Amino acid sequence: MTEIKLLIDNEDISATNNRTFERKNPITGKTATIAAAANAADARKAATAAAAAFPAWSKMGPGARRKILLKAADIMESKGAEFGRLVVEETGSTAMWGGFNAHLAANMLREAGGMTTQIQSNIIPSDTPGLMAMGIRQPVGVVLGIAPWNAPVILGTRAIAMPLACGNTVVLKASELCPAIHHLIAQCLVEAGAPAGVVNVVTNAPEDAPEIVETLIAHPAVRRINFTGSTRVGRIIAKLAAEHLKPVLLELGGKAPFLVLDDADLDEAVNAAAFGAYMNQGQICMSTERLVVDNAIADDFVEKLAAKARTLTAGDPSKDNHNHILGGVVNVEAVNRIEELVKDAISKGAKLVAGSGKADGVLMDATLLDHVTPAMRIYSEESFGPVCVVIRAGNENEAVRIANDSEYGLSSAVFSQNITRAMAVAGRIESGICHINSPTVQDEAQMPFGGVKSSGYGRFGSNASIDEFTELRWITIQSGKRHYPF
Ligand code: NAD
Repeated sequence: MTEIKLLIDNEDISATNNRTFERKNPITGKTATIAAAANAADARKAATAAAAAFPAWSKMGPGARRKILLKAADIMESKGAEFGRLVVEETGSTAMWGGFNAHLAANMLREAGGMTTQIQSNIIPSDTPGLMAMGIRQPVGVVLGIAPWNAPVILGTRAIAMPLACGNTVVLKASELCPAIHHLIAQCLVEAGAPAGVVNVVTNAPEDAPEIVETLIAHPAVRRINFTGSTRVGRIIAKLAAEHLKPVLLELGGKAPFLVLDDADLDEAVNAAAFGAYMNQGQICMSTERLVVDNAIADDFVEKLAAKARTLTAGDPSKDNHNHILGGVVNVEAVNRIEELVKDAISKGAKLVAGSGKADGVLMDATLLDHVTPAMRIYSEESFGPVCVVIRAGNENEAVRIANDSEYGLSSAVFSQNITRAMAVAGRIESGICHINSPTVQDEAQMPFGGVKSSGYGRFGSNASIDEFTELRWITIQSGKRHYPF
């Protein structure tokens, strides 16, 4: 069991009245973490600490900021086993997922470290004689990051790495489902030498989330917000940000389509589909949710994928000696929702070709449904679990139409051995991300990451993030005498 407090001004402090909340291991039901439960005053304290640290941090040279980010990356990697243990305990996922998370998150810190010298200003030709005009990028102030539990180390780190590199100080509002993981991310930066107040973490009881989030967004020192989470909560955040006229980056839900055209390499497509659909029990925003398959090869594809899916069973990652690829789903509510979606689809004619459609507690084997149609809820609702569906298409145009028949638009994939054809199809898919002949799930720190439609707006990823987390100012210097009309 892990105990954590609020991290404010580089100190672990208790929440007002010593309030705490508990996160239970979703598989064993045992207490995984006892975390401080902040109230609004505690949240304000974190934002105020970040504001006080801003002047010095924003003026620190890029080399000094880079040194801290690079050191934090090494510290994070050295804590890979601890992150792995916490991922197993707090989220029920596998140590493999935890280790991968720590590795990619460390790379995000390294990439952010490298970007400290790439935040460039420019000289803009002016029509005014003797005027030197500049577009200067400056840090904005305090950035509020709100991150979810599903890729806990990656998304918690992503919420603060580039904001820090750009010279901002941060408050990370941790997920109630993985408070210790999010706290440990900040601990890496503190151990690496981040000065007091540069990185602060607020943990809260689930029922207090609306008040804490509103308090932080309203705080005058908070100048930018980034939110990764569901589209439902994203809409609430967007409204709050609009009320306070603060820019917000939203990374929301997805329903990634994976198109298998009639000339695809089926074995490659099957491997990529299985990875994209079932990695981390399908709880990734980029998870393959819809396999849109050309009728001509659909029977072969489904047979091969179903055979592979049947080998992907779920078990308790803390005691099964890695016999299972899948760990647990994050909680019973999620399992109930996923089972409902499967039941609804079967009752309307879908065919279950892998898995039983039922979970044992939060353990659910890889599940595959064929012949899914728009009448079924799972055709359009994000399942965010180890269940994937096949929707059959008559031809390429129909496949594109089905891919775009969704409110979401985060990731997507196209499988075809004709790259010219695949590029043309990729160009027609309404999504922020599209991979040709590789899975819908992939992430690298330096890539522009983000969605369209109800998957949100704004981009993480080093270069693209500079726009999000700096203020572009117009500064001029007049030399010589200026001519005035009066
Ligand atoms: P969630 O939206 O339920 O929770 C995210 C955060 O919102 C939590 O910190 C919670 O405290 C806060 N919150 C909850 N209710 C609130 C309210 N009424 N007002 C203000 N804040 C509130 O998301 P989740 O279940 O933690 O994460 C899963 C979702 O995140 C999925 O939809 C997934 O697709 C999405 N996701 C997107 C990306 C991406 O990069 N686009 C990455 C990972 C996950």
